[in-house]
Amino acid sequence: SAEKPVILIPGKIHPRVLERLTPVFEILQTPAGQPVDLSAADAARVRGIAVAGSVSATLMEKLPNLQVIANFGVGYDGVDVTAAANRGVIVTNTPDVLDDEVADTTIALLLNTLRQFYAAESYLRAGRWEKEGAFPLTPLSLRGRHVGLYGLGRIGGEIASRLEPFKVKISYHTRNPKPGVSYGYQPSLKALAEAVDTLICIVPKTEQTHKAINADILKALGPNGVLINVGRGWSVDDAALIAALKDGTIAAAGLDVFYDEPKVPKDYLDLPNMSLLPHVASASVHTRNAMADLVADNLIGWFDNGVVKTPVPETPVKG
Ligand code: NDP
Repeated sequence: SAEKPVILIPGKIHPRVLERLTPVFEILQTPAGQPVDLSAADAARVRGIAVAGSVSATLMEKLPNLQVIANFGVGYDGVDVTAAANRGVIVTNTPDVLDDEVADTTIALLLNTLRQFYAAESYLRAGRWEKEGAFPLTPLSLRGRHVGLYGLGRIGGEIASRLEPFKVKISYHTRNPKPGVSYGYQPSLKALAEAVDTLICIVPKTEQTHKAINADILKALGPNGVLINVGRGWSVDDAALIAALKDGTIAAAGLDVFYDEPKVPKDYLDLPNMSLLPHVASASVHTRNAMADLVADNLIGWFDNGVVKTPVPETPVKG
């Protein structure tokens, strides 16, 4: 039989990806946290990459026979997609299969930020309920809120449909109004922040979304304002958010993502009006398995019959 195509895995990947790829391909896995170091001979054999992290243009240049990069995750900002497109290299991601999980987590983070369930449970566990009486009433509630979605794509749409039964008003901002939705459209992030009191960020990491949630936006959100970020830490100006939470410019924030993960600014840890999660929005066994399968299906499909299931929009060929 023909030689198995060689797949490079730079650093760590979900074990199910390895389990699915190992029977079909020859795997070259390089150590995590280090630049990829391959002999020229090995580099020339690499035809595909499976990655949960980053693939730079520099790495692609070292791989003359690279055809496809399968990214573990729907956000593929770690892959230099322009460099890939210029070289005719296909990039795939893992859309759709994580939408429900991420939307569920977003609702949980929103409720937790408003109703302080983590603090309440810690209070019970510390024995304070018995000694000191009831946990203090939370100043914030979801009741009567107007929620604005910054981003209404696959995940944003699932978040919005979950919010409907909570009986809140829903608005959104995207660059293009989304046909067929009844939520109020705002033509800019600023206009959205002015209209709502609760802002959920679920946009991708792009040049346009860099620190988009800045002092100006937080001021527009106002003193009853709550910010939830499940997109990328890249989209929030940390210094502005810390200041806004300290001086009451907004009321509270819940974050699943951070600018320089896994580093979290110390000020965030000290603020009582924050709920913080370590980038776990899609992190269940169920959903990560589905993402792993999609990574494997994309690579297997490509080398079997030249078809990828989920190419990213910038990619030179369609699935
Ligand atoms: P989609 O591509 O389906 O949706 C992206 C949405 O953002 C669209 O509505 C798009 O609308 C909008 N958007 C993009 N750029 C801008 C902009 N400059 N200004 C305003 N709106 C913008 O992506 P998904 O819903 O599948 O995923 C969104 C992101 O969520 C991912 O890229 C990833 O970074 C993050 N994510 C985080 C996870 C976590 O674990 N916390 C898990 C999964 C995803 P339009 O094009 O009209 O502007």
